[in-house]
Amino acid sequence: MAVAFGRGDGDGWVWCDQGHRHWGRFGAAGLLIRSWAPCDGDARIVLQHRALWSHQGGTWGLPGGARDSHESPVGTALREAEEEAGLPASSVRPTGLLVDDHGGWSYTTVVAEQAGPLEPAPTGGESIEVRWIEVDEVDRLPLHPGFAATWPRLRRTPAGTLLVVDGANVVGARGRGDGWWRDRAGAARRLRDALVGLAVRGIPAGRLPPPLPPGGLDTLLPWIVLVVEGAARSIAAEPLGAPPAATPPGRPPKTAPPPDPAPPRSPPHGPPLHAPPPHAAPATDPPTHAAPAAAVPPTAAPGGTAGGTPPTDTSTDRAMPALRPAAPHPPVQLEVIAADRGGDDTIVAIAATAADGAHRALVITADRALAARVAAVGAATAGPSWLLRLIEPDLRSGE
Ligand SMILES: [Zn+2]
Repeated sequence: MAVAFGRGDGDGWVWCDQGHRHWGRFGAAGLLIRSWAPCDGDARIVLQHRALWSHQGGTWGLPGGARDSHESPVGTALREAEEEAGLPASSVRPTGLLVDDHGGWSYTTVVAEQAGPLEPAPTGGESIEVRWIEVDEVDRLPLHPGFAATWPRLRRTPAGTLLVVDGANVVGARGRGDGWWRDRAGAARRLRDALVGLAVRGIPAGRLPPPLPPGGLDTLLPWIVLVVEGAARSIAAEPLGAPPAATPPGRPPKTAPPPDPAPPRSPPHGPPLHAPPPHAAPATDPPTHAAPAAAVPPTAAPGGTAGGTPPTDTSTDRAMPALRPAAPHPPVQLEVIAADRGGDDTIVAIAATAADGAHRALVITADRALAARVAAVGAATAGPSWLLRLIEPDLRSGE
């Protein structure tokens, strides 16, 4: 066990409704990170060979650990992956969640893609090694039972999903008679703010449209691009609003966490799913393939790993016994892009680059001509009503 770790309020054992003892008072979360192009034969994932002293020592599992009361599963998984495996959040792009719920305790696997340089290595003292493993090799390893139980589902989860929102079309579809159509920038801003909420909480599997089968995920975490045009273009230069706070996973914290900082502006996680479209102004900073600063600071903690690893419980192990600080919110996976020419050309260009990169692209529009154009480049479409049903509460709260 490494020293100088803070301690989270999630650290501790609990009994689940199935009679098991688990590490993590508010549940636990781990990160399954895949290399590019998970559909090809060279797909790899990062696994941790657990230290012999640990719970289920010697088995292979995912970097992860106990959730703190103020953390989302994504926040926990990114923090633990950085602490235990040296995986910077800036090089990781979450694509979905898979929840193993035991009743009274749950383990959330955050499925993610590599989005920048990653050199996995043991950094937290809880590992014999941490490295890339070919997907076809995984079943030959002695796996942690919790990971082994979910691996068949995890293995078939889909590639990352790009959600391209035709802003003018969606605003027009909702705006009949309620006045928000008259203030196009204001309407687009409210749509953007509602999409921030959607980007943070994700889309439940049961509410995905037919073109997006969940593929084993319980929640889809899409990369969202809102394309604005005309009078609404001005909002592309504005910073994103603060995302809603993570839903507390259970009991209240004993100590109020410090306030979370505002999220960074886009681009949040390494390169976006698409290449910069032609004739489109970037939302804020120019899109760059250089890795931005790590979103999760290298605070360390002795939280467990997949299935629950207790820390060694000797006080001399901890130079900093204080409650570890709240990790910042994970960056919001949302960009606003202003179309210089017609919005349709920009949307088609974005959809085409995502589909080219073996990702799924779904364009939200009721424009039939545009739907035909994006279909020709391999993207699917869904109507504004599908999106509006998902975000209507957010839109109302912003009015
Ligand atoms: Zn259990």
